[in-house]
Amino acid sequence: AQAKLDEKDPQAVSLGYVADTAKADGKKYPQHQASQMCHGCALFQGKAGDAAGPCSLFGGKVVAGKGWCSAWAKKA
Ligand code: SF4
Repeated sequence: AQAKLDEKDPQAVSLGYVADTAKADGKKYPQHQASQMCHGCALFQGKAGDAAGPCSLFGGKVVAGKGWCSAWAKKA
């Protein structure tokens, strides 16, 4: 299995990644909504509902299905 993306990874920090969307920094990222999660993001490469999966922004790591970052974009 691939390693989980660490929230302290410099790229994760720069994008405001959190493994739990509820912990997103709403002051820094006012666009954040609790309904936004990695598994509903266009860049998530796992299946909807997966606990974790690859993200095209973070190569070699998996992100939490219920995670979030500021690059979140609604899956079409
Ligand atoms: Fe999650 Fe999307 Fe950010 Fe990747 S780009 S970490 S799938 S919110």
